[in-house]
Amino acid sequence: MSAPTPAFLPFARPTIDAGMIDAVADTLRTFQLTSGPQVLAFERALSDYHGGRSARVVTSATAGLELALIACGIGAGDEVIMPAQTFFACANAIRRTGARPVFVDVDLASRNMDLAATEAAITPRTRALMPTHFAGLPLDMDALYALAERRGLRVIEDAALAIGSRWKGRRIGSFGDIASFSFHPNKNMTTIEGGALLFASEAEAERVACIRFHGIRRLPDGTRDVAEVGMKCNMPDVHARLGLAQLARLEEFNARRRVLAARYFARLDGHFPGMLPLRGDDGHSWNMFAPLLPLERMNIDRKGFMDALGARGIGSGISYEAVHLTSAYRVLGHREGEFPNSERIARQTVTLPLFPTMADSDVDRVCDAVEAILAECLA
Ligand SMILES: *Cc1c(COP(=O)(O)O)cnc(C)c1O
Repeated sequence: MSAPTPAFLPFARPTIDAGMIDAVADTLRTFQLTSGPQVLAFERALSDYHGGRSARVVTSATAGLELALIACGIGAGDEVIMPAQTFFACANAIRRTGARPVFVDVDLASRNMDLAATEAAITPRTRALMPTHFAGLPLDMDALYALAERRGLRVIEDAALAIGSRWKGRRIGSFGDIASFSFHPNKNMTTIEGGALLFASEAEAERVACIRFHGIRRLPDGTRDVAEVGMKCNMPDVHARLGLAQLARLEEFNARRRVLAARYFARLDGHFPGMLPLRGDDGHSWNMFAPLLPLERMNIDRKGFMDALGARGIGSGISYEAVHLTSAYRVLGHREGEFPNSERIARQTVTLPLFPTMADSDVDRVCDAVEAILAECLA
């Protein structure tokens, strides 16, 4: 008798326990579905988790990044510096305000924005820096904020992948200027879709709370005013209730991610010389484990490698394509060769399965498959 085929292993999967399902069902039964007491409770919990900072939740990190830019007063004629290797949402949010994204290369090892290149890209029009903490590995926060202070720039941290990450023991979002988290199902905690902003300034948090719901302010006579042109990206209570239950288990989720990442390192160290991600320290929250493929020594391409994993029941992903080489940004004049590290990562990266409910044996299964595929295809 042949061994049973193991279940398909996706590259990311949220952890949803019975208590979370009950909590969501209970919220549905209250008929208070959109923003209400659960949003307030979730924002309080996020604030407590981040050392008392002001927290406001929205329907996505993408909306959050746009709101953060608006809160900083950024718009037409302004420039915002961001990495060329990150998710498209950052560039789109900047463009939507009318400002211009100025791309800089990333460091090949950390995959985070190169701060020397960042400083060199500053012009009189630069208003803000928007770095991504890639895969949950914090940027050098001392160097980032020293640069921002020296040059008088705002910082909007794209912390979509970094909830629970720590820099020198302090949680990302608990210090600094503005941090934006994502609660998409592939992130370290989820509200299905959703995001949160953490602010140094309570006044800016209040302004964002107004803009996220049409710009409405309530007047003493019971009528409403539109204080400024708003958006519609308030988080529903059903989602916030899930977020509360997820946040309660976040430390446990992230601890498990660290154990699984360590197991990948132990198994794959010899197979990807110089091409594994940086290990970081225990402040890394390991949203993804994404080595670079040694494509120049392989006789199949990345698609072939991912298909071979897929044939063995293993999912994989690409995080990310280089933003500046997408059609919407090429029209601004961007071309191959501008950002060599970003372009190399975009060509060679592959995201292997990593999520808290994976067993140790799932990591072994992925590593066995990677070893077998590389053994076949390495020239
Ligand atoms: C997921 C992600 C975003 C956007 O988050 P959404 O909640 O899906 O809008 C932004 N930046 C990075 C690096 C991401 O991974």
